[in-house]
Amino acid sequence: MENSSSNNRFRSAMFNHDDEDQDKEYVGFATLPNQVHRKSVKKGFDFTLMVAGESGLGKSTLVNSLFLTDLYKDRKLLNAEERITQTVEITKHTVDIEEKGVKLKLTIVDTPGFGDAVNNTECWKSVADYIDQQFEQYFRDESGLNRKNIQDNRVHCCLYFISPFGHGLRPLDVEFMKALHEKVNIVPILAKADTLTPSEVKKKKIKIREEIEQYGIKIYQFPDCDSDEDEEFKQQDLELKESIPFAVIGSNTVVEAKGKRVRGRLYPWGIVEVENSAHCDFVKLRNMLVRTHMQDLKDVTRETHYENYRAQCIQSMTRMVVKERNRNKLTRESGTDFPIPVVPTVTESETEKLIREKDEELRRMQEMLQRIQDHMITQKDGH
Ligand code: GDP
Repeated sequence: MENSSSNNRFRSAMFNHDDEDQDKEYVGFATLPNQVHRKSVKKGFDFTLMVAGESGLGKSTLVNSLFLTDLYKDRKLLNAEERITQTVEITKHTVDIEEKGVKLKLTIVDTPGFGDAVNNTECWKSVADYIDQQFEQYFRDESGLNRKNIQDNRVHCCLYFISPFGHGLRPLDVEFMKALHEKVNIVPILAKADTLTPSEVKKKKIKIREEIEQYGIKIYQFPDCDSDEDEEFKQQDLELKESIPFAVIGSNTVVEAKGKRVRGRLYPWGIVEVENSAHCDFVKLRNMLVRTHMQDLKDVTRETHYENYRAQCIQSMTRMVVKERNRNKLTRESGTDFPIPVVPTVTESETEKLIREKDEELRRMQEMLQRIQDHMITQKDGH
């Protein structure tokens, strides 16, 4: 996998098919211009997708299959001992892909090692921190002077992989999703669906959906389709909602099935085809991610998750400013020294320095708040 941005004509990346086959092998984000205003087309789109879940569930294989690119070619696989001691290390991989003149800068945020360690307490913490850090950076940039060229690294979607071998959700899955559901759009995935029979997949999906409800986990909600949409569209929408969690199969190899070369997994008893909707929900998931809901995932990230973060930030900043103001007022009125408990070793000039630094911090916060308020007013006026 690459750690840097690389130009990748994804069609030629992995498969060496004839033209007819190549035409079928496209990811589908060329429909993005229909999802948003054409003005954005020239600039290109960006999308950040996070994958999470226990290692070995096929996360990297699925990402490669989804975007027809070998994002993980430099990956070093850890041995058992390394995996036990490894903490959740977040890695980020960016790839530029282009389809029918539409550019997409795709960033994959990977959370390797999750669930491997003997002690998995709070293994979601570093992932939650990572998401918050991206919000914080955006918040700073947005409140700063150079607002036009903000690099948006906010995570738009998290594919959460659930093991096909358990009985529904494990406590760790519940804990992880609950810790993240207010921060990111979670899309649950039933991994390695080829290890289950169709009726097992069906039962497992129902169980997982029930448990999601039971534990109050707020996964990404597909928007309701308009009542004036045609019946076919409504049916597709319903099917999409009932597919949760998407049962997927990943493969990076091309096999021959009924005279055609397809991506699949070859078993002694037959072939499972990744892109055959009778075999799994891969195509549904890919369509949802890149063709129909990419813009909505970004909108929900901006309007709900980021707004929550921003509101909390402004609230705590306001609280600090008010507290600080009251404290200064009290100090002025009583004529006493700044009521910070001064340790005996701190000299007079150090105390002054502390006060100056505090004042400076306070001033910066007030300025930032002012800028945010101005920004909000201009945004309102603009509409
Ligand atoms: P990760 O650690 O979650 O990124 O998992 P990998 O993508 O590295 O996959 C781990 C192993 O599972 C590899 O040997 C893959 O070939 C295999 N694998 C990946 N996807 C599937 C799948 O859908 N079904 C089955 N049976 N095996 C899979």
